[in-house]
Amino acid sequence: MHIDFSKIPEPLIEKSKGELNASIMLFRAVHYRWLIKLGRLVIPYILWIPGVKWAIKKTVFRHFCGGETLAETKSVVETLAKYHVNAISDYSAEQAGTREKQEETKKNILESIRFAKTQKNVPFACVKITGICARPLLEKISANEPLTEEEATQKQDFLERLDALCAAAAAQGKKFFIDAEETWINPAINEAAEMMMAKYNREQHVVYTTIQFYTKDSVAYLQRLIDTAPYKVALKLVRGAYHEQENERAARMGYPTPIVDGKAAADASYNAGLRLCIGHLDKVSFCAATHNEESIALLIQMMGERHIGANSDIISFSQLYGMRDNLTYNLAGHGYNVSKYIPYGPVKETLPYLIRRAEENAGIGSQMGEELQLLQRAKKEKRKPASGK
Ligand SMILES: Cc1cc2nc3c(=O)[nH]c(=O)nc-3n(C[C@H](O)[C@H](O)[C@H](O)COP(=O)(O)OP(=O)(O)OC[C@H]3O[C@@H](n4cnc5c(N)ncnc54)[C@H](O)[C@@H]3O)c2cc1C
Repeated sequence: MHIDFSKIPEPLIEKSKGELNASIMLFRAVHYRWLIKLGRLVIPYILWIPGVKWAIKKTVFRHFCGGETLAETKSVVETLAKYHVNAISDYSAEQAGTREKQEETKKNILESIRFAKTQKNVPFACVKITGICARPLLEKISANEPLTEEEATQKQDFLERLDALCAAAAAQGKKFFIDAEETWINPAINEAAEMMMAKYNREQHVVYTTIQFYTKDSVAYLQRLIDTAPYKVALKLVRGAYHEQENERAARMGYPTPIVDGKAAADASYNAGLRLCIGHLDKVSFCAATHNEESIALLIQMMGERHIGANSDIISFSQLYGMRDNLTYNLAGHGYNVSKYIPYGPVKETLPYLIRRAEENAGIGSQMGEELQLLQRAKKEKRKPASGK
């Protein structure tokens, strides 16, 4: 099936002129890399200054986040439902250094799972592990360093927190994504995710781990999971959100970068992941979490060749809120199982996420162009008089 992704989705045209103008200004601003770099360094320290938080909330936050609370995301979830798009409420805390903060994140995610139960279009919940476990501990586990007694207790505490979230999702009949983060903490995340898949994916795909295909070992890791896991393998396939930090750290610390050499290699690796997954549907369920039109077209083509229905239960697509609405709504319009990740949380907590989105859009010249073009075309379409009557 061929889908025309250039069609401007209705919900974008329905946005107010003010909202569209604010988003256009935002995508123009993120074009300047120096501005983003400055923002990353400065904003966390000046958030207390009157007006700064307000300005962030009215611009980048409003574009990329569903709200500060779960209740505030409800209208977004309902709009998506109107267009047959699923929603994934994503509590965006990822710097939880203290036990108190980690418990608070757990409580918020449990609330998002209960909320999912009340909405017909929220099949998934998700967690970023750095929201429920301290980063230094994840680094230590990943480096295979021996843990002190206190750290071993903290690790146990973290696993219990994660288990409670997976159990709640399973009990509510929901699926649960575990996000991937930086390669120096991913081994700990993968270990925990595999434990949870072993426990909850005996019969069904409940817990989904995430593979970043910009890493050199991603395809081999996927193959190993498929070959050896004695449970159903559930995956979110992403390219990866941290390639600049990964390359910078590797250069600074003098080890070979774990990232493939260039964008074309990341694309080839991602598409190899899609091919591998679709070849093992007896065991694998997966979500293609991507804004890449070619990868999406490839997956649609492969589904067609295998006579897999668009609204498959085991293959889905996902994009981030505020990005590539043309992909999401046109996929939904053709009956595909597609969702939007909707980050929410206090502005301060969502800053790392917002900065990543800004960097990503500054980094990929062409995609920034596409996003901006889409918004400008939506604005033009809005101005057109209704045709006919
Ligand atoms: C629903 C959803 C969930 C996500 N969850 C996660 C998650 O859990 N963890 C995570 O890390 N990311 C996550 N992401 C972000 C994702 O990893 C990408 O950063 C983002 O989607 C852009 O990649 P793309 O596949 O959309 O395609 P494109 O826009 O075509 O590709 C951009 C990506 O290509 C890669 N790339 C670009 N230049 C280079 C280069 N020179 N060398 C190597 N690679 C390069 C990078 O991964 C970059 O992000 C998620 C994205 C979505 C849509």
